[in-house]
Amino acid sequence: MINGSKVLDRALRWGMVGGGGTSQIGYIHRSAALRDGNFTLVAGAFDIDAERGQAFGRALGVAAERCYSDYETLFKAEAARADGIEAVSIATPNNTHFAICRAALSAGLHVVCEKPLCFTSAEAEELQRLCKAQQKIIGVTYGYAGHQLIQQARTMIADGLLGEIRIVNMQFAHGFHHEAVELQNASTRWRVDPRFVGPSYVLGDLATHPLFIAETLLPQLQIKRLLCSRQSFVASRAPLEDNAFVMMEYDNGAVGTLWASAVNCGSMHGQKIRVVGARASLEWWDEQPNQLRYEVQGEPVQILERGMGYLHASALADDRIGGGHPEGLFEAWSNLYRRFALAMDATDRGDHAFLQDFWYPDVHAGLMGVRWVEQCVKSADAGAVWVEC
Ligand code: NAD
Repeated sequence: MINGSKVLDRALRWGMVGGGGTSQIGYIHRSAALRDGNFTLVAGAFDIDAERGQAFGRALGVAAERCYSDYETLFKAEAARADGIEAVSIATPNNTHFAICRAALSAGLHVVCEKPLCFTSAEAEELQRLCKAQQKIIGVTYGYAGHQLIQQARTMIADGLLGEIRIVNMQFAHGFHHEAVELQNASTRWRVDPRFVGPSYVLGDLATHPLFIAETLLPQLQIKRLLCSRQSFVASRAPLEDNAFVMMEYDNGAVGTLWASAVNCGSMHGQKIRVVGARASLEWWDEQPNQLRYEVQGEPVQILERGMGYLHASALADDRIGGGHPEGLFEAWSNLYRRFALAMDATDRGDHAFLQDFWYPDVHAGLMGVRWVEQCVKSADAGAVWVEC
């Protein structure tokens, strides 16, 4: 159970790039990082508009001289201080992730980066090499994977309760962009512009989330090949897709599907994962994150509830309030940030034994997502053909 007691003997000095006052995702980064006292926010370049970012940083309680105009100045000035930042989170539009990650690692910082990590697998591999060379980590904020019941599902599958895995059915299909809302909404505008998001919209923005959950639940399965068909139902978004279907074949003979959409009218989030084995299935929806469906063929459905004593110890370890009270996305992200802090600390101490079996969305997870999107785009643009992974 997590009760706020410190897992490190001191808080890591932490900064942010992006995540400014008008951003969608900045607040949850701060809430999650600061929740358990493992990080302390001491610096930032919070906004593309320097003045607005500096005013926002001061409003957060960051010292005025440590609210910087841009990330280059942030990294340089903080490196020159004895009490400079040790870690930075990057919560900016996708086209900037690679350059800022590379600069942060080169400055000797641990990094938490938004997804998708970057645009190409060559870039992601470069970041992976840099992590190794610098002995620093990148944590990727696949936030939903921090929900307690994901750990429960992972353990049940590893324990063989489903039998041989046959089908993995994933989706993240919301309806918020069913029409050209980008004409009014700045945060949507860059999401449908290749200059900011590279080769894909919903595949990178949405699909990488359930894909990572599947990788977490089924670490032993590798995708062998895939076929993707993508559409731009709002025509002005072409060549970027606002809807995509992906079929996958795994190396154990299992098959998978993923539906990613921003035009699924009426759906709030529609993110789910269903894993079907030879004797039972598990299903989890992010709109009901406190429940996990366990369906054994021929038996009544069991709804496993978060926080209950019958869960596996690996799931209960991430519990914050016990059963009955709902936990949500803010707790899931806090669980991830707690793991990022532990991974950063263990890396700094060279504790390879600890890191060997320690789960968190790392630079490899970032690379897997980028590589998968790349293959999907290749498949779709060749006319929805099978491509090897
Ligand atoms: P947004 O447009 O709402 O906000 C972007 C923020 O970054 C703004 O504050 C902007 O001023 C700032 N910014 C832009 N360029 C900058 C730069 N060069 N230096 C400093 N600040 C800069 O975008 P958002 O929705 O918050 O998305 C940001 C990132 O978070 C994206 O990569 C997106 O994919 C990701 N995201 C992830 C999740 C998740 O569940 N993990 C959810 C939403 C968004």
